Amino acid sequence: MPQVVENFLQFDFCNEERHFFAFAGILDEIGVMLVDIATATAETSRQRELPKTAVTALDLQMDYSLASRFTSACQKARIMTETWARDNLYCVNCESEHLYPTPTNTQVVDFTCKECSAGFQLKSQSSPISNRITDSGYEAMCRAIRLNQYPNLIALHYDRVNWSIQNALLIPSFGFSLAAVEKRKPLAPTARRAGWVGCNILLTNIPSDLRLSLVTNSKAIEATTVRKQYQGMSKLKSLDVASRGWLIDVLNTARSLNRQEFHLHELYSRDQHLSALHPQNLHVRPKIRQQLQRLRDLGLLSFVGNGIYRWNTPRIN
Ligand SMILES: [Zn+2]
Repeated sequence: MPQVVENFLQFDFCNEERHFFAFAGILDEIGVMLVDIATATAETSRQRELPKTAVTALDLQMDYSLASRFTSACQKARIMTETWARDNLYCVNCESEHLYPTPTNTQVVDFTCKECSAGFQLKSQSSPISNRITDSGYEAMCRAIRLNQYPNLIALHYDRVNWSIQNALLIPSFGFSLAAVEKRKPLAPTARRAGWVGCNILLTNIPSDLRLSLVTNSKAIEATTVRKQYQGMSKLKSLDVASRGWLIDVLNTARSLNRQEFHLHELYSRDQHLSALHPQNLHVRPKIRQQLQRLRDLGLLSFVGNGIYRWNTPRIN
């Protein structure tokens, strides 16, 4: 029981004249306490009125009423997916439950987190996410990866019949190597931007450890699970871009063996593939061994002995 209430109950009313000022002081304290309670109650009800957060309720239904203002299917899809992302996506780099749209015409980054400044690019499509995601200019993409400036990428797959989110994939900003960037054919001479060269993101060249599912087959994955996966790989941030590229490529090659345990010789048999990805390096096999040690230090692998390695985690997808 609060001390002020105890004082009130124990007050000697028989000597009220003698204790008048003490009694007035108790009443004053009770008044302050009631104001505190009223303020706290108002704050609680205000919090209840906040929009549902991504963490507690990821709503996969898009708002079709937004589309009535537009005539083209492309514009309808854009307004609905961007609004959905604004209202539902959360930050994976920190605990923030909201992402905020960047000003119109901001290059590459569509959303940012106000808590940690992490950037996110959104790519939406009505067809299922396959091995390729169409992205921006080839040279700009390669430069962004080399300069460590590429944001987190979120790929959305939505249904055009009921306008709901079917799948959503997140590739962390530190999950790209140049091997993931595929050059497209230059635009035809008749095109408005004749000669311009775009690129595709090759998901097959991104390890499963770095392809994080936010939504799978119309089912949202718990935010705590996604954040844990993201944080588990975030040590890659501390590597310089060239070292990170090697690590990602060896990790992806080793994962593609599709075995819980593998021998060093099996990776050596893929050295031509890795050599093609890193033509400037003439010592591919020592580089492979170095990356395996790094993967072990990251906690992804254990060294069993006699050239055998074992994954500590199963394939994620
Ligand atoms: Zn954040």
